[in-house]
Amino acid sequence: MDMLENTPVIIASSLTGLVISRSLSNQGIHHILIGGDEPDDTPRLGESMNEGASIDCWRFLGPEFKSCFYTKSHISLLNGKHASMLYTGNPNRSIDKANCNGNKASPFMVVNSLIHVDRIKLDKLLYHQTRASHFCTFIRNSRAKIAYDAGLDKVTKVELGNDECINNPSFVFDATGPFGLVARAADIGKMELTDRERVVWTHYGREPISTLPKVWWLYGTNLLRLEQAVDGIDGIAWLIPLGNTISVGVSVEAATYRPDKFSAADVMQLLDAAFARRGVNYRSLFPETKVVKELEHAYFIRHRAYGSNWLLAGGSYLQIWFPSSSGFSMSTLAAHLAPHFINGTEGVGRFYEQTMHRSLRFHDHIHDMIKDPPFTNPYQAQRFWSHWYAMLIVRFSQHLRAANNDLASSDLIYKKMEDGGALVEKSEMLQAALIRKNYVRTKEVSDLAELGQAFPGYFTSLFFLQNSYAGLLASLRLRLR
Ligand SMILES: Cc1cc2nc3c(=O)[nH]c(=O)nc-3n(C[C@H](O)[C@H](O)[C@H](O)COP(=O)(O)OP(=O)(O)OC[C@H]3O[C@@H](n4cnc5c(N)ncnc54)[C@H](O)[C@@H]3O)c2cc1C
Repeated sequence: MDMLENTPVIIASSLTGLVISRSLSNQGIHHILIGGDEPDDTPRLGESMNEGASIDCWRFLGPEFKSCFYTKSHISLLNGKHASMLYTGNPNRSIDKANCNGNKASPFMVVNSLIHVDRIKLDKLLYHQTRASHFCTFIRNSRAKIAYDAGLDKVTKVELGNDECINNPSFVFDATGPFGLVARAADIGKMELTDRERVVWTHYGREPISTLPKVWWLYGTNLLRLEQAVDGIDGIAWLIPLGNTISVGVSVEAATYRPDKFSAADVMQLLDAAFARRGVNYRSLFPETKVVKELEHAYFIRHRAYGSNWLLAGGSYLQIWFPSSSGFSMSTLAAHLAPHFINGTEGVGRFYEQTMHRSLRFHDHIHDMIKDPPFTNPYQAQRFWSHWYAMLIVRFSQHLRAANNDLASSDLIYKKMEDGGALVEKSEMLQAALIRKNYVRTKEVSDLAELGQAFPGYFTSLFFLQNSYAGLLASLRLRLR
């Protein structure tokens, strides 16, 4: 182990650890990755990608991962008797349409590139590719410990058991998620952002013998606000299509819906019935069942993200409400910045902490929708999405800075997004003028069962031209010709 002294160390081989390792290998930086076995085949969390993560999947991971991706054309919400969505891309496009070439990631790449990810496939492929790099020394150990010097604010040793250890790691990336190995050793407190939630989820599948019907909810990420009085359970659910599989799950208050009263199977039954009640009858299309999984957790932020030679990477520092689809982008943010941390780039820790911290507003916005009573008028749905959209702009710009190695650049594209985004974020009037009218679609129904048939024009060119930024660009091009 002596020869591994003064080397950067990544602790944990789940997604965050793997993308950091890949980033260091891409830069030719020798490092140690401490982690467990190949990921298993059970349904995982983290299948819907936001703007930054989608671009990263194409550019940072590369074309060999393409078979793990599916197009994502909207994010929708069924809440009360209202179906609403941010329509983001043409649902008729092929996955090959994503244009993520070019030296630098740009906001225009989002058009056509939003995706869902098959995490079972991706995590496995990434695990093997990452380990195969000649710059990565893999050590199998899922119970690493560390020694921390509070005076120096430094991790001084990584202990592997059996008297084996890595002394004086030059830098330590803690990718252990909520466990927070370094955070615990350094006694960094955390603020819980929610009460404890219980998450129950599974995959349903089908034989690919017939084509699926063209229904809008099979083309994007769908959220459903469940109501105790209607569904027998309160919570927020997702439905994410992944080719011949769908991912379905729900988050409920752990104290109210305890496993001794509601088994995971009971929760899934209530969830399937809740979607079916709203005309989204996926079980008739996806009859095959997979194992039902569950976990209990609370969303949180730790009081500090980095120290003298360590970083709380991605979900080790911050975890926010899942509808934000932000876990993957937080992992890749840490990965883009990892070489800077090792090289001691001035201000990188502050940049990381501030960019991550920005997500808290997004978390609060989603939290209010989940915990407030269901919508009673279309204005609430419009407001929800236009505010959502407004809050994406600055965060996305900061993600692009990291992806492009432009942390302190005064490039106009970043300035415009950041100044403009900050302005729109603050002004309801601007949101109403710029976003609500153009990108948010809402539909109110008199009977819940009609929600599944909302958005009748969803697959038509007119809907595309009127509602998406891709459509807007396409119509501008037409006008210019
Ligand atoms: C309900 C829900 C839905 C979500 N949906 C989305 C989504 O749609 N899109 C999205 O982008 N994100 C989503 N996320 C977040 C996403 O799942 C995670 O951000 C993502 O999986 C990255 O996890 P991670 O690698 O940081 O940590 P984790 O997956 O938590 O892994 C931590 C790893 O650390 C290892 N470990 C712990 N201690 C040690 C030790 N001492 N030594 C070595 N190894 C150790 C563990 O074995 C584990 O492998 C969702 C999260 C939840 C809860």
